[in-house]
Amino acid sequence: MIFFALAILMYFLPSIIGHNKHNAAGIFLVNFFLGWTIVGWVVALFWACTSGPRMPVMVVAGPARYCNGCGTLSAVGAHFCAACGRPV
Ligand SMILES: [Zn+2]
Repeated sequence: MIFFALAILMYFLPSIIGHNKHNAAGIFLVNFFLGWTIVGWVVALFWACTSGPRMPVMVVAGPARYCNGCGTLSAVGAHFCAACGRPV
């Protein structure tokens, strides 16, 4: 049973390494569908190791501003940062 769990863990090692990378979905799909071929597993592992980190997507609606002190996004129309109290 432990061998089976380790085999599953080893099979999805590229997906585990690439779970927070930019192409995490593609890495998982290649790993899932082509991982049973050794070539697909190696390709997914290589892709997971060379892919860049996932970029955070931030949508700002309206004239909200970032605090220069702590980087927190302040509410629209606020004159002081809610986190650190500095003027924004
Ligand atoms: Zn602040």
